Amino acid sequence: MNKTLLFVINLIFAAFSGAAVSMAQSALSLTNYTYSPTQLVIGTIQSKESVARFTLRGPNAALFSVNKDNQLAIKSAATKSSTQWYDLIIEGRGEKGTQRDTFRLVNDQFIRNQVIAHRGAWKQSGTTENSLTSLNNAVKLGCMGSEFDVHMSSDSVLFIHHDPTIEGIEIEKTPASELAKLKLSNGEALPTLDAYLREGMKQNRTRLILEIKTSKLGRSMALTERVVAMVHHLKAQAWVEYIAFDYDVCKKVKALDPVAKVSYLNGDKSPAQLEADRLNGFDYHFSVLKKNEAWLQDAKQRHLTTNAWTVNDQPTLQWFLDQHVDYITTNEPELLLKLVSR
Ligand code: MG
Repeated sequence: MNKTLLFVINLIFAAFSGAAVSMAQSALSLTNYTYSPTQLVIGTIQSKESVARFTLRGPNAALFSVNKDNQLAIKSAATKSSTQWYDLIIEGRGEKGTQRDTFRLVNDQFIRNQVIAHRGAWKQSGTTENSLTSLNNAVKLGCMGSEFDVHMSSDSVLFIHHDPTIEGIEIEKTPASELAKLKLSNGEALPTLDAYLREGMKQNRTRLILEIKTSKLGRSMALTERVVAMVHHLKAQAWVEYIAFDYDVCKKVKALDPVAKVSYLNGDKSPAQLEADRLNGFDYHFSVLKKNEAWLQDAKQRHLTTNAWTVNDQPTLQWFLDQHVDYITTNEPELLLKLVSR
């Protein structure tokens, strides 16, 4: 590829990323993004500016209503369709002008079991972890969630991979144009977050459990901003839940999007601390929870979600099921699905 073309591609990436970041600063948000025939009230519309009233726009506007408390509801008839989601434009008019944003409201057929496929479902099927195939396998199996890891290239493009390096190449120090040439062992291209989210949003059964990796170059906050911006840009809020080892990353996600579900991974904060910082729960190594069994009950009393990683053997999986943990992240989703269904 010649240098001019590379330069142009990098410019396009940079412009896109910049646009996405500004979209995350949208003045409007919702407290929830899903509906079902038994849950017609979707959530409350929130605004950073004071708004006199909200108006619904776009081709799907007639399917929804807003009440005086700014609660958004879907009409019962619209929930009977097999439509996976509706896009809705919400407009708020206030003294400082008009704010407008588009929201994707998802038919809630999300699976309620304890099973999160760690880096997708790849082991039994012999595919590559953190690939689109491993994500689709987790969806086909019927996992509640499929987990994946996000790093940022030297020019701020987001890629899915567990390790900070791939084939000896440091993701953080390499431009997207070079990373885009890399192939996974199953023949897929190294996925971007954009591609991964778009793939995951083709269905409405499995949540996308997004791990923001800690930057070795001190760019974790910038990475976090870009991740949240992209989730908002793609209107993926209904699908995505966040996890991170860096506590400041967890808090940053909540600062950017207070209704986002965020769980902490590193195992060194009590449920009381997580609650004080308004995180949604913990996702701790199973050995931490075996040493601190009381945290499971304490977390439940505080309405925090409980999640253990990465549990792969039947006795330990069963132990956590017996403790009524909310979720277990595993390389053996097939085995865990068998245990939860019996
Ligand atoms: Mg991970």
